Amino acid sequence: MIAIENNIEAEAERLLRSLMHVECDPKGRKWNLETCREIALLTLEINRLKKEKNAVILTHSYVEPEIVYGVGDFKGDSYYLSLMAKESSADIILFAGVVFMAETAKILSPNSTVVVPDRDSGCSLADSITGEEVRKLKALHPGAAVVCYINSTAEVKAECDVCVTSGNVYDIVAKLPESQILFVPDRLMADNVRDELKRRGVQKEIISSDGTCIVHEEFDVAQIIQARAQFPGLKVVSHPECTSDVAAASDFVGSTGAMMKYVKETTAPYFLMLTECGLVGRLEVENTEKNFIGGCRLCPYMKLNSLEKVRDALLAPRPDQIITLDENLRQRAARCIDRMFELTSPA
Ligand code: SF4
Repeated sequence: MIAIENNIEAEAERLLRSLMHVECDPKGRKWNLETCREIALLTLEINRLKKEKNAVILTHSYVEPEIVYGVGDFKGDSYYLSLMAKESSADIILFAGVVFMAETAKILSPNSTVVVPDRDSGCSLADSITGEEVRKLKALHPGAAVVCYINSTAEVKAECDVCVTSGNVYDIVAKLPESQILFVPDRLMADNVRDELKRRGVQKEIISSDGTCIVHEEFDVAQIIQARAQFPGLKVVSHPECTSDVAAASDFVGSTGAMMKYVKETTAPYFLMLTECGLVGRLEVENTEKNFIGGCRLCPYMKLNSLEKVRDALLAPRPDQIITLDENLRQRAARCIDRMFELTSPA
């Protein structure tokens, strides 16, 4: 009994060392020893299950901080986590993120069992277009290179020539020999690609489908103007899923990983992060000397993850928590992702 209590206390202290810095908590919690004690038994159980089952937990930066810092083995954006999935030799990969990300892990690690805490964790971008709709667009634009943002389903990836992330989209699109690009599913990212290629003097026609991220599309320039007036010296950091007006009014636009690097390397009195609040929580934990002024937004899909669901999916996953893909479709989707790795690997 005393040993269990000691374990819980040590675990609560471990959790607190990270969570105490989270100001931007999605549920407005203030993390202290007491709130960490409340989840310590669960994080201990999950970490024990991981060892017993040779499982690894990939956590997207947008999920709740107790998952990222309590049980996550790897934390980051889709691209980084895809690489970790590719290199993993775990029997079970639990993806705490959204379903298209877990599908990507399954595409890259077909021999692992890939599980998700909540099958309803969709994505407004990934769910905006089907494979059938991509086929129809391809028929309308037969000479175009078909490029999909990684925020797309496996069935969409299987229809595309190459996959991109928010970190490599500009370089990959610029490198493609085709002058016409069919870009799915993010209309706002396509706008940003058009603007960036123009800046680089690269001539391409970009045709896009009509998806948007319900989190990033909501930011606007008025918010930036107001924040700059209130916080002199402020740096505004945004994601390429934002509108092109927001991107143009920002000091830095980049992928989740690039945003983290920018904040780490930039000296400024305040930062306005125009992205999902989970990333701001991570920045608070990992850059305790910097000031973030809020303004972020929550992704309702990411917030469907919870420690309880992570535990249940590891302990005895229900069929709906296990990702399965048709092998032919998986191989076609893998070619699309492999092409991305080829185009981004050093020559
Ligand atoms: S933040 Fe946007 S792009 Fe990311 S999962 Fe949520 S809806 Fe999809």
